[in-house]
Amino acid sequence: MTMYVRPKKSLGQHFLHDRQIAERIAHSIADNTETLLEIGAGTGVLTEFLLEKDIHFKTIEIDGESIAFLRKIFPDIKNKLIEGDFLKLNVREIFDKPFSVIGNLPYNISSQIFFKILDEKDYVREVVCMIQKEVAERIAEKPGSKTYGILSVLIQAFYDVEYLFTVHENAFTPPPKVKSAVIRLTRNAVKHLNCNETLFKKTVKATFNQRRKTIRNSLKLITGDRAIPENRFLTLRPEVLSVSDFVELTNFVENLLIASQLVN
Ligand code: SAM
Repeated sequence: MTMYVRPKKSLGQHFLHDRQIAERIAHSIADNTETLLEIGAGTGVLTEFLLEKDIHFKTIEIDGESIAFLRKIFPDIKNKLIEGDFLKLNVREIFDKPFSVIGNLPYNISSQIFFKILDEKDYVREVVCMIQKEVAERIAEKPGSKTYGILSVLIQAFYDVEYLFTVHENAFTPPPKVKSAVIRLTRNAVKHLNCNETLFKKTVKATFNQRRKTIRNSLKLITGDRAIPENRFLTLRPEVLSVSDFVELTNFVENLLIASQLVN
């Protein structure tokens, strides 16, 4: 009896069946990679090429049925296979040094996966992943475009982003409703932003959550009723601001908060 994994929509399971594409994704990770984590092995189409690499490798999969399938087809996978939820994984417990991430991600939680990677940015050197094409374009987008948003700014602050290639829906079983794309994120040299990073995130989120409003209007969510002094960004919309503009804006907001505390 051939074993089969029933695709589960709730887990974003669209299994890639095109082995050439899987091989191309596996080869998109840097040649000098030593430690690699795959997210969502599924039926192992990508895992097969990763297991061939002479590196420290682990893969995490949440679905018990896929886990049983993977153990069967890769008898040597043993402790390279982690059964669990990447979003709850303590990555520092499984690797004691920086690592890279690869995967055909479950599209329904791809943003959460990126936020977790950003939380671990000092450990994650490189990410090669397949995601929904629209999300890939957004992440790679430059300021001035309608699709430039929260993830573009937060990721581009710490990673260089490359859009590698587009993948047609017919490459999957079952085919997703959307096109897919593979992107590569490479950690840049920025260790810390030149501002309070928590406030930076808050400023980026507050302004893009009301992307049709001017910065002046959106900032009220953070600054409350405080009078906002003149600033070159106030009449603009968030999509025209670069990462360094957001750093400057964050420092402006912080100074405003500090000044008003001093007065009160
Ligand atoms: N790598 C396989 C492929 O290319 O065919 C599967 C890709 S499928 C788009 C995404 C995989 O991620 C599924 O196998 C799914 O079960 C798994 N997954 C979903 N949520 C997960 C989570 N929170 N942690 C780990 N794996 C997850």
